[in-house]
Amino acid sequence: MKDYCCEEMEYHATFSCDVHHHPFDCPDQLIYVDKDNEAYGLIIHDGGSSAITIKFCPWCSSKLK
Ligand SMILES: [Zn+2]
Ligand SMILES: [Zn+2]
Repeated sequence: MKDYCCEEMEYHATFSCDVHHHPFDCPDQLIYVDKDNEAYGLIIHDGGSSAITIKFCPWCSSKLK
């Protein structure tokens, strides 16, 4: 299990919705975790599957690794 920089990041990175099976379909899902690349993205809810890769935590501004 990975350590997260803060509670907010842990909450959003581990968030899973019962209603929406795909993270991009869920309006409550803010963070997309790319487990293969160990990268984090900010989901853009435009109906597609785009995300902006982020290098720093939006909540506590720690560098993401
Ligand atoms: Zn953080
Ligand atoms: Zn949902």
